[in-house]
Amino acid sequence: MRGVGLDVIASRIRDASDVFLFTHEFADGDALGSMVALTLYLQAMGKRVHAFVPGKIQSVYQFLATDELLNTMSAAQATVHISVAKVTCISVDAADIDRLGEWKPLFLSGVERLVIDHHDTNAGFGEVFAVDGSASSCCEILFDLFNIINPRLIDTRIASALYTGLVADTGSFQYANTKALSLMHGAQLIELGASPDEISRSIYESKPYGSLRLMAASVVASRLMYGGQVVVSYVTRNMLADSGALDEDTEGITDELRRIADTKAVVLFKEASDGSIKVSLRGKYGFDVKRIATAFGGGGHLLAAGCTITSELSKAEERILAELDRYLGPSRI
Ligand code: AMP
Ligand code: MN
Ligand code: MN
Repeated sequence: MRGVGLDVIASRIRDASDVFLFTHEFADGDALGSMVALTLYLQAMGKRVHAFVPGKIQSVYQFLATDELLNTMSAAQATVHISVAKVTCISVDAADIDRLGEWKPLFLSGVERLVIDHHDTNAGFGEVFAVDGSASSCCEILFDLFNIINPRLIDTRIASALYTGLVADTGSFQYANTKALSLMHGAQLIELGASPDEISRSIYESKPYGSLRLMAASVVASRLMYGGQVVVSYVTRNMLADSGALDEDTEGITDELRRIADTKAVVLFKEASDGSIKVSLRGKYGFDVKRIATAFGGGGHLLAAGCTITSELSKAEERILAELDRYLGPSRI
């Protein structure tokens, strides 16, 4: 753990009465699981809590009651509230402050700014931070935190939200970040009421049809490069329109591409609505993709990282490939 211990975070939370929660844009299962779990837990502690997720929330996570619990206060209301009340701001699962998207200024307005995260690349923004790069997910850290504060407040809904984050970030306990402790935490969360089959069905078997069509299009558009060591693919605005998928429906495409035998890395270029390119990187067999993301101001983990490049797709691709050349040699065929 870098920064402070969870006991310090726990005491700051005990002293707070109003709390605003933040997470990263294109929120994934760990980000949303963390936001929902923390919202419910803080409510159980008797706090006034509001959660702010940048952009749209993926429909696949609606089973966590994301619509009812998150983004319930408007930006105008939040700005007024934070100017009159002593609000503690907490960021979860966000590797740096820019990842908070449109809510970054609100986070900065808090009288206290706490950061709880598991990204190695998190330099520790906020005045108090707890970053554990060895934790599989932010939800695993929150589970420890809740056990420090008061384990009896962890009900079935909170356990389910935490389990969702654990499953999402470990790829159902399959990736290299799955530790013995992750499985023990998973087991404890099941004992507390989380249902593995319902959660898996909700995450993996409740996708909008358009997202599956988009995944298929992205597989068809993919190319093997560097002698099959890298698979590169795309999600363009045209592909989104043709498949009827939404921007927030791209989760899972990298998981599909990483199935290919002998590939060391997956690179997915996504054209965002503002014209910038969001690059998702995945490594296999220990191939470090974090160093590629950080070269472009992004971040993440050794085997799962990302960055945003503001240029047209072909130029963004050329820049990423030039970086890959450094590690895989100049032959891209
Ligand atoms: P993604 O490809 O969006 O699923 O992201 C993979 C991992 O990299 C996640 O842990 C993200 O939090 C992290 N990540 C993605 N994009 C960025 C970025 N622009 N800056 C820092 N971390 C990122
Ligand atoms: Mn995340
Ligand atoms: Mn995470």
